[in-house]
Amino acid sequence: MNQRLTELNDKYENLTYLDRLKALFEEFDPEKILVTTSFGGSSIVLLHLINKVAPRHPIHLIDTGYLFKDTHDYKQRLIDKLDLNIIDVHPRERSHDFTTKYRVWEGNSDFCCFINKVEPMNELKRGKDVWISGLLRFQNANRADKRLFETSKDLLKFHPIIDMGPEDLNLYRTIYELPTHPLQYEGYGSIGCVHCTKKGKGREGRWQGEVKSECGLHV
Ligand code: SF4
Repeated sequence: MNQRLTELNDKYENLTYLDRLKALFEEFDPEKILVTTSFGGSSIVLLHLINKVAPRHPIHLIDTGYLFKDTHDYKQRLIDKLDLNIIDVHPRERSHDFTTKYRVWEGNSDFCCFINKVEPMNELKRGKDVWISGLLRFQNANRADKRLFETSKDLLKFHPIIDMGPEDLNLYRTIYELPTHPLQYEGYGSIGCVHCTKKGKGREGRWQGEVKSECGLHV
């Protein structure tokens, strides 16, 4: 797998963002390509690119049950504008109710993320070959060394816009007149669940006061 990974990274690295996605959809069975989004601040760029290459390809939103109403409103706006094929994915009801009843995010956010994000994601990954995500190198130290492709157990992970910087994202959004998440106007740099998102630059508002910087999906 290591040699295959190197070959893929070398092959895709010099392509444009759009051509990377075109190449992926030609090289792999589209049925086996998983796309997820959080509808956080920068998601729109990747969704717009995917929509150009594979219109109506299923895009999964892990709805933890704790997302901001603004995120749901923003999602609907993007569906209306881009005709996205969004599939909401939910955690197991009883487990989710447990995290709500005991406010698990306060005492054990890793467990809360596991129940509400990682478990539903593990179900989604079954039978897939590639998982496309919108990770960006500049977002935090965990992501700084990532290349376009990496492996996650038997699955390939593909981060086609990993090398975009904040200016590239803004330029892309401006050129294509893409809507901005309403909370970004209020000073939220990154947007996740209501309980674990505060205002702040970049991802500094996520899990404030904890060493945690990732929900567990990408580590
Ligand atoms: S981000 Fe917070 S509320 Fe959301 S699943 Fe993780 S711990 Fe729970």
